[in-house]
Amino acid sequence: MKWSKALIPTLKETPADAEVASHILMIRAGIVRKLSAGAYSYLPLGFKVLKKVETIIREELNKEGALEVLLPAMHPAEIWKKTGRYELLGEVMIKFNDRTGKENVLGPTHEEIITDLVANNVRSYKDLPLTLYQIQTKFRDEPRPRFGVLRSKEFIMKDAYSFDCDLEGLNKSYKKMYDAYCKIFKRCGLKYIAVEADAGFMGGDVSHEFMVPSESGEDEIVICASCSYAASLEKAECVKTQKAKAKEQKLKPIKEVDTPGMSTIEKVSEFLKRPHTNLVKTLIYLADKKPVAFLIRGDNDLNEAKAKRFLGCDILEMADEADIKKATDGPLGFSGPVGLKGVRIVADYDVEGSIDFITGANKKDKHFINVNIDRDFKVKEWADIRYITPKDNCPKCKKKIQIKHAIEVGHIFKLGTKYTKTLSAKFLDKQGKEQAIIMGCYGIGVNRIIASSIEQGNDKDGIIWPHSIAPYNVLIIPVDIRDKKILQATDKIYKDLTKERIDVLLDDRDQRAGIKFKDADLIGIPLQIVIGKKAVSQKKVELKLRGKNKVTLIDQTKIVEKVKKEI
Ligand code: ATP
Ligand code: MG
Repeated sequence: MKWSKALIPTLKETPADAEVASHILMIRAGIVRKLSAGAYSYLPLGFKVLKKVETIIREELNKEGALEVLLPAMHPAEIWKKTGRYELLGEVMIKFNDRTGKENVLGPTHEEIITDLVANNVRSYKDLPLTLYQIQTKFRDEPRPRFGVLRSKEFIMKDAYSFDCDLEGLNKSYKKMYDAYCKIFKRCGLKYIAVEADAGFMGGDVSHEFMVPSESGEDEIVICASCSYAASLEKAECVKTQKAKAKEQKLKPIKEVDTPGMSTIEKVSEFLKRPHTNLVKTLIYLADKKPVAFLIRGDNDLNEAKAKRFLGCDILEMADEADIKKATDGPLGFSGPVGLKGVRIVADYDVEGSIDFITGANKKDKHFINVNIDRDFKVKEWADIRYITPKDNCPKCKKKIQIKHAIEVGHIFKLGTKYTKTLSAKFLDKQGKEQAIIMGCYGIGVNRIIASSIEQGNDKDGIIWPHSIAPYNVLIIPVDIRDKKILQATDKIYKDLTKERIDVLLDDRDQRAGIKFKDADLIGIPLQIVIGKKAVSQKKVELKLRGKNKVTLIDQTKIVEKVKKEI
């Protein structure tokens, strides 16, 4: 391909709305262009990368026996209502009525649709196991589309679904996908970590996320350098430490104190001159519309995913002012457990053993000091419902943990019968008995692989692609296209490489060499062949490895061989 015909509109300036390296570089290198918030067009260079990533995904999934399908992107709302996810996903789902007034949605994911397909086409245990996948655009009206293609409203997902007769089969299918994912991310050149994860709105009990550590990642992962423990922040368990038993201490009398306008931990702590650890927050939530009070030590934060898992509810939402008033008879910002009636109380393990602590008094501008469990109120349910912090130890080996930012590129779940039961996806077993099919689901963010690759592979000059997903493997840069000798050598090398089916781009533009070099580094093709006057006179060319400060002079006759070795 010749640059002059390739539509690579590179830019010198950093786009105003781009904050992270991948977003900046994808715009500057002419990979994508923004149409509107969360919607991006892929230009030819970007499209080539997309196709290379998709090919790697297809190859690895096909090797595991998965079958490719293509499902509609537009679905009747009805099917989403059957599983309750129409409500659950709420505003994330893009909805519209067709000309007959029927409500449709644009697919944010495809569990319902694939289960319906399988329900109507799989009859017997002989049809199973079965893994189907597709590579398709998904639509999610994300509340905060940002960081370019990392979080967009329209993105390409590879979604796969496994169907098995029993749990043993599911475990096998899951393992196959897990292994395929490892191969896919490795082949894409990503440094990734597979972590234990929360299943979120997918439901199901076992799940792993594939995370690419990067400062630009919106997720955080917990890793232990001493053992193999790795989990998402939502999932990471906190070690229960032995606390002093309140009963053994001499307790101070409980007292109501004035705290005018002090409705946050920070304000109360400063006003009463007590550390955050001496405060217990009472957070009022609605779990499937019923009030719950979570008690968390003042220096900790509630982990909603853990709380939701503990309660086993479908929807957990923070109570608003009116619901707080109904549940506690007090105002927002002053909730407390003392005197609370008809509200389920769940306390975090870290609250155990806290003595003479401070809580809200369920009255405006009032707190209690010297509150004590058992004496002043009872706790029936204890649970691990807080976020792990860098001060915590590894739940497995008890050594220090690290918390790192990461980008989620893939997520796999053991779903069980959550969808197959509701949508009647059954099979006849060997005994002729009808049973619900057991399901797993497996997603990869195709665009996120590209952005993550750039996050991990860039320098001040631009992108550094790995060969496996680079738009081209070689960029030929003749420094002066008006020089006959340079042109001749360029033509020959271009033809020879093309003949070998090597993906090569030729910068045939009549531009200053400086501009060409800058653009070359910006678009990040891994191998640059620079054809200059001096080298040509010696029948040589320069070979530059992008990202490595190494330039070697190579005989023109040996360049093809050398390039083949590098790819
Ligand atoms: P996130 O937690 O980042 O919102 P998710 O858990 O909702 O993602 P899944 O439903 O598991 O995502 O989707 C599978 C994969 O699709 C994710 O692992 C991610 O790589 C990708 N993905 C999800 N949402 C987006 C988005 N808004 N833009 C780009 N890729 C996305
Ligand atoms: Mg996820």
